Amino acid sequence: MKIKYETPIVEMQGDEMTRVLWDMIKDILIDPFVEINTEFYDLGLKNRDLTDDKVTFAAAEAINKYGVGVKCATITPNAQRVEEYSLKAMWPSPNGTIRAALDGTVFRAPIMVKGITPYIPTWTKPITIARHAYGDVYKNSELSVEGNADCYITVKYNDGRVEEKKIASLEKRGIIQGIHNKDESIVSFARSCFNYALDTEQDVWFGAKDTISKTYDHRFKDIFWAVYEAEYKDKFERAGIKYEYSLIDDSVARVIRSGGGFIWALKNYDGDVMSDMVATAYGSLAMMTSVLVSPDGKYEYEAAHGTVTRHYYKYLNGEETSTNPVATIFAWTGALRRRGVTEKNKKLIGFADKLERASVKTIESGVMTGDLAAMFKQNGVEVKKVNSKDFMTAIKNNL
Ligand code: NAP
Ligand code: MG
Repeated sequence: MKIKYETPIVEMQGDEMTRVLWDMIKDILIDPFVEINTEFYDLGLKNRDLTDDKVTFAAAEAINKYGVGVKCATITPNAQRVEEYSLKAMWPSPNGTIRAALDGTVFRAPIMVKGITPYIPTWTKPITIARHAYGDVYKNSELSVEGNADCYITVKYNDGRVEEKKIASLEKRGIIQGIHNKDESIVSFARSCFNYALDTEQDVWFGAKDTISKTYDHRFKDIFWAVYEAEYKDKFERAGIKYEYSLIDDSVARVIRSGGGFIWALKNYDGDVMSDMVATAYGSLAMMTSVLVSPDGKYEYEAAHGTVTRHYYKYLNGEETSTNPVATIFAWTGALRRRGVTEKNKKLIGFADKLERASVKTIESGVMTGDLAAMFKQNGVEVKKVNSKDFMTAIKNNL
């Protein structure tokens, strides 16, 4: 008998190679065991164009309604895609739209398997990066200054008051930049981190540069502490986990020396840079999970990689491809487990755990896709590179 659950999960289909993998994952690994109950949104670029991108907004709304979503990778169109798909417009990134609607924080964590050793061998447990996804240098204003100029930041309040501060006097050519953030967004960021820490029973480390940036970065530090003290301190103590703030440079040094197993909360730019560093150090982008968590506990799961365009063009040519489905499988298990938690459904949680274990075990037994075969090393295990479908069939047999 298939496992059932009550409330639908929001399912968002996507593009290219991952769109192909998506249906295979459902057919081979989920549908035989679980009565899939989803509200379906096709976020494939064609349908986004057809619906003037309304489908993306509808999907985001549905995640807010049902609380759990699972999303396939999607194309973020650029000029070349506008031509390739004869698009009506260069539609914005669906992830950006959904992130804005959920006011969420993105958590990224590597899936670890024996045989793929991180470049930093002491990292025996995953490091989860929590990147603040609002403001700072990503919503900046910058100017190139010719020289012979005094440069100021100016705040004009609606009641007529004006506040001004000098940035620099530039005798010769130079550059200036203005950035901002919102208390509201920082509070949401802090709450998302602390909620995720409680859910996954991991410590939170937050690093910023408050010694140098005494107003801007210091505000982040103060807000994190205030939110922690007012809303989370007791819960953390009960769960036996910790929140720690340190300077960002000190934080980097401690992360490198660590054994992993914590959440590293980072401002937007630091998160952008450090997530690539951490992902690479663990081995493969195809083994990175990603989950968007809203401050009120809505979860959207996906793989961290894109639509794997290069493989898709080969696939369209009839060539065999060996694209790694693991991060997308884990997006599904994440969503199913979360639904299991919201409905206290032990069978569903158990299924998610087993499917994850079977995926890991399959790789550890030597059966894997090409990306992993190139870096797998384990004494006594012979590596067998297979295509995506055979890989999933091997997982099913282990399951
Ligand atoms: P990508 O799809 O992540 O692929 C980059 C390269 O990484 C691939 O060519 C492949 O290397 C390797 N790779 C990534 N995932 C893999 C997997 N599952 N199995 C095996 N190898 C994998 O990034 P991209 O080519 O820069 O972007 C393609 C499209 O994805 C773009 O249109 C972009 O807008 C979109 N995108 C979407 C998301 C999202 O929806 N979250 C995120 C990023 C990008 P080899 O070719 O060397 O095998
Ligand atoms: Mg980046």
